[in-house]
Order: sequence, then structure tokens, then C-alpha cells
Amino acid sequence: MESFSPQLMQRFDVPGPRYTSYPTADQFREDPEGAALRNGLGGQVSSVALPLSVYLHVPFCESVCYYCACNKIVTKDHGRAEEYLSYLRREIHSVSSILNGLRGERVQVSQIHLGGGSPTFLGDDQLSVLMHYISGQFSVPGDAECSIEVDPRTVDGLRLAKLREMRFNRLSFGVQDFDLRVQEAIHRVQSYEQVEALMHAARQLRFDSVNLDLIYGLPHQNEETFTRTLEQVCTLRPDRVALYAYAHLPKRFKPQRRIDPVALPNVETKLRLLDKAIEALLHAGYEYIGMDHFALPGDVLAQARKAGRLQRNFQGYHTGTGGDLLGFGVSAISQVGGVYSQNLKTLEGYYGALDEGRLPVERSLMLHDDDRLRREVIMGLMCQGRLEVRSLEKRHGIHFEEYFSDALSRLQEFEGFGLLKRTADELEVTSVGWFFVRPMAMAFDRYLWQHQDHQRFSRVL
Ligand code: SF4
Repeated sequence: MESFSPQLMQRFDVPGPRYTSYPTADQFREDPEGAALRNGLGGQVSSVALPLSVYLHVPFCESVCYYCACNKIVTKDHGRAEEYLSYLRREIHSVSSILNGLRGERVQVSQIHLGGGSPTFLGDDQLSVLMHYISGQFSVPGDAECSIEVDPRTVDGLRLAKLREMRFNRLSFGVQDFDLRVQEAIHRVQSYEQVEALMHAARQLRFDSVNLDLIYGLPHQNEETFTRTLEQVCTLRPDRVALYAYAHLPKRFKPQRRIDPVALPNVETKLRLLDKAIEALLHAGYEYIGMDHFALPGDVLAQARKAGRLQRNFQGYHTGTGGDLLGFGVSAISQVGGVYSQNLKTLEGYYGALDEGRLPVERSLMLHDDDRLRREVIMGLMCQGRLEVRSLEKRHGIHFEEYFSDALSRLQEFEGFGLLKRTADELEVTSVGWFFVRPMAMAFDRYLWQHQDHQRFSRVL
């Protein structure tokens, strides 16, 4: 894959959604009774896409990272986990009862993902009970993808071995940067040696895939320090690397107020860090999967991309082996039967709803025809990098050029820069265009252009 110029980066580094869903989560509307989710789960049985993916949100962390924008609860009181797990099981039971009851059998789940927060805040026994519980409520085949986000400061080789016994076969380590000065400024100190030992253990335990998360744009990062971090990452050779941009929004995210803005790299430096990272990862043999994600050619994510099976949901890119997504836990989001639904974001609200026998839903959205059409277009661009115009017209009964005349005129600039090729039958993102697929997808986002409010999103690069 070719690299791209700083001019291109500056021109298309605009604020915009990450499109883990379309419509984006800010379009969800209040739904305290969870009516839309009930409808998605059971209204039209055939519209639930099986096998399901399951996401379990564990909100607790022992200490706060200053860059954090996640929904988490910082506590050292591990006793709080037991109460949370009892409510989580109640929620899982309510939802699985609806789904299984309609089919007269346990529905199949092919992907399980634990995220947070820090799932490894839970003890081994608690994690094991949770995994057993899921396997009891759903039918989980032996080759299901089971992944867990791991805070390297909370595990050792022995804990990884326990995770492997519990059927986890994919790990994601939060690294962000190996430079000590950067780590101190973000309040997340973990040595290279610590992560190296875990990577070694993960290999010996034969985890199918190991991901490392990195962030660029953090305080005190510069080209020299970040190049060193990238070299260390390439030496560890994880199967996947997720490279996120830090968005400094201290008004929205309280922990970020503890980051000294003077220490943050400026926009030009930040773009150079991104450029360095892309160059280093491609040079080391990684393939660019799409927005933020890189994978070695043998990884299933890279294979799914080549086979045109890549999909995107609230966890980012995935291999496309799972259908609809059920999210469990405080603030978790589900996508099922043409409905998006987000759970209550506070523990108090989440526990209260379950105590009253309600699904713990806060907001939801039922997709209408135009949403479904635009979702297909946006996800087609984001995941496959191409759109077959004629088949889309047939499926949705539209004339593409007329229906999307506004979007197509917005895309002309991308065509001019060689980022997109367009014929009467097809839109195709070029290899350099892959890095700008997010602003291209924005051209089709009806809500974004209706409200002209791009600024509330983080920048795309
Ligand atoms: S970045 Fe992760 S580990 Fe750190 S506070 Fe946020 S959720 Fe917790």
C-alpha cells in the first residue's frame, strides 16, 4: 500500500463519526421500557441475524488513565464486582429467555467479547462463572471466538493460562505507548518487559490472536519516542495492532483535565506520528484493515478483509462470522433485528431497572428504510471499500444517482485526489483512499448533513 501526503492528511482531517453503527448512537431516543429492543428480539423472529455475537461490559478499573473516554468506575473495592455480576446474569437471562423461548432452543453465539473498563478486574473464578453462565444460556460451539481486553498491569502468565482454560482464544492488551514519560503523563505505567513476558506467555498458550492497542497524540509523544515504541511493538509482533488517535476533550471527559495541554503534540506533529506509525507497520508486514486497525496477513481479520467478509459493529471491525450483537452490562449497546439499543449508563439505573423486572434500556432506535439503505452504503465503503451500484438499486428499489445526488457531489473532491474511483456500476476506494474512508462515508450520512454538526465528533485522523 502506498503512503500519503501531509497535504491530504490536513485536507481530510475533519471531525466525524467512527461509524461503528449507522445511524450513530447520538440519534438513539429515550426508551425506558426497552420496547424497541423487545421488538428487535422477538417482534419479527426471522429478522434476528444468527449466530449472535455477545458483548459483556465490565465497568470497573483499579486506577484511572488520564486519556480515558470510556464508561468506567474507578475503585479498588473488588467486592463490587460480585453484585454487578449477579445483575449481569439477570439481564442475560431476561434476553436469552425471550430469544430461546421463541425458538424452543438455545440460540447460537459464535463470538463473545469482554470489554470495559477492565474485564480483568474480575477474579479468575468470577470470569469462569460468567463464561459458564453464557454457555448455559446460549449454544456456544467449541470454535467460537472468545476475546477479552486485558490490562497488562493486572495479569501474569498464570492468569493468562486460566483465561485460556476458560475458552478465551483472543487477547487484546492495552499498551498505548512504551515511553515512560508518556506513561507517567497518562497515569498508566507498564514496562516493555512486562508486556513482552505476557506476549511470550500468550504465544506459548497458543492464543489464536493477540492485539496491542496504541494511541498517538498523547502528551510528550514525539517522532523519536513514538518510533521507538513502534519498533518495540514490531519486535513483539502481535497479530493485530489498533492505532487510535487521542482526542483531547477535557470538557466531556473529566480524567482528561489532568493532562497538561501544553505537553500535547500539535496537529502537524500528531499527523507525522500517524504517518510514522503507518510506515512502520506496513514496512513490518502488517496490512491496513481499515480505520485504526492493522493485522498480519495470516490473521483472520486480514483474511476476512481479503474475502470481502469484514464487518463493523460497536466493537469495531470483526471477521463477519457473527450476526446481530447483544450487549450486556451497564451502557452496553445491542444491534438486533433492525434495532439499536443502549443500556442505562449508571450502576444505580441499571440495577434499578432489573430490580423492577425491566430490560435495563436507556435509549434505542428502530431503523427505517432510508437508515438501512445508508447503513449498507456506509458499511460497504468502510468494510469492503466498494459498492456495487446496480445490486444496491435492485435491493432497495432506488435510482442510485438520483437518490444520492448530494452525496455524490460531495465525493467529487475525493475522486479528484485519486482516493475514490467511480463508474456507473461501482464506487471503489483506492489504496490511499482507505485511510480516508471515514470522511467518504460521511458524505452519505443524512443526519450529519441535516444538522450540520460535525464538530461534536473527534477528528478522523
Ligand atoms: S483506559 Fe481502560 S483501564 Fe484506563 S481507566 Fe479507561 S477503561 Fe480503565
